[in-house]
Amino acid sequence: MIIATDMPEVAKCVVSQCAYNADDACHARAITIGEGADPDCDTYFDSNKHTRSSRTAGVGACKIEDCTHNRDFECTADSIQVGASAGTANCQTYTRH
Ligand code: SF4
Ligand code: SF4
Repeated sequence: MIIATDMPEVAKCVVSQCAYNADDACHARAITIGEGADPDCDTYFDSNKHTRSSRTAGVGACKIEDCTHNRDFECTADSIQVGASAGTANCQTYTRH
């Protein structure tokens, strides 16, 4: 089986209440951006049981087609940063066409 590993890195995420967050980094295997029409983190999971993984997440999929970094619903940026605004976790590398 071949698993794609050339994903854009989640260089930083400051959403500390997410289960996958530790020390301003995301430790999920891969995340999906695009919850509804907004570039929100679809993998966000509110839990105080935090991950113990030391890996750094990649962007596995992104549904936000109007971002200049999006091609065929995948992110082509070198890396992204995730921040918090209006109570949601969102991609701060999002750049509208
Ligand atoms: S909000 Fe998204 S990017 Fe941030 S730690 Fe959680 S799953 Fe990772
Ligand atoms: S930079 Fe653009 S394409 Fe990449 S994850 Fe963020 S919103 Fe999606």
